[in-house]
Amino acid sequence: MHIFFPSRKSKDSFILQGEELRHFKVRRIKKEEKVGIIWEGSLYLCELERAGSKEAKLRIIERIETKEPAVMITLIQAVPVALRTFEAILQKSTELGVSEVVPLLTDRSFKNREVMGKKRERWERIIREAMKQSGRPYTLELRDPMYIDELEPKSELNIILDNFSDGKRVKELELEGVKSVSLVVGPEGGFSKSEVRHLTDKGFIPVRLEPHVLRSETAAIVGVGIIANLAGP
Ligand code: SAH
Repeated sequence: MHIFFPSRKSKDSFILQGEELRHFKVRRIKKEEKVGIIWEGSLYLCELERAGSKEAKLRIIERIETKEPAVMITLIQAVPVALRTFEAILQKSTELGVSEVVPLLTDRSFKNREVMGKKRERWERIIREAMKQSGRPYTLELRDPMYIDELEPKSELNIILDNFSDGKRVKELELEGVKSVSLVVGPEGGFSKSEVRHLTDKGFIPVRLEPHVLRSETAAIVGVGIIANLAGP
């Protein structure tokens, strides 16, 4: 099913305009064909009533029940030097139900905040496209970039993924019943020793994934995927 973001809602319909209308037309949606609409955290099943050059009107058939994530996941991701990789992480985090992503600035990460500021709109668009693709109606919050010393362990469970760790393996974590998890993932070049120490001193628990060293994006997606499926009530 194709999903769109409308510009506004009236009593029993949604109006598509601008870029979303353009997407709608490219898909060649026929009259009475069913489409999805994401509006204020909900997904609606709709059908086309009429499409003009300036707007399309979609009649609401029903609100579709969607799942809430069982656990609130905050991914604190060192920004990869290749920003495309960060974009892939944003896309996949959206699919996996991550609640928020904090771009993290470390010794070996991408560090130019000005460039990141300019990318923000593009990144928000990547998140929206992933929401449509996965039928996820609630948004992923993209936070402003932070430095390691600004980080606080604010979830019930706070993890730093560390391939050098002789600490816990994922299967040793008590995930059952946990409602919020923060996951810190390092950049391609890894964290420095002092960065890891700083975070563990603050209370982030070092965890390793088996069996090999993973790329930053692999570690992020696998880590999030495991937590999303094993934590929660
Ligand atoms: N170049 C580094 C690897 C960095 S991998 C090295 O030589 O070791 C990038 C990040 O992914 C790491 O900082 C860590 O957060 C995460 N990561 C990669 N493999 C991992 C593993 N097996 N267990 C836990 N975290 C891992």
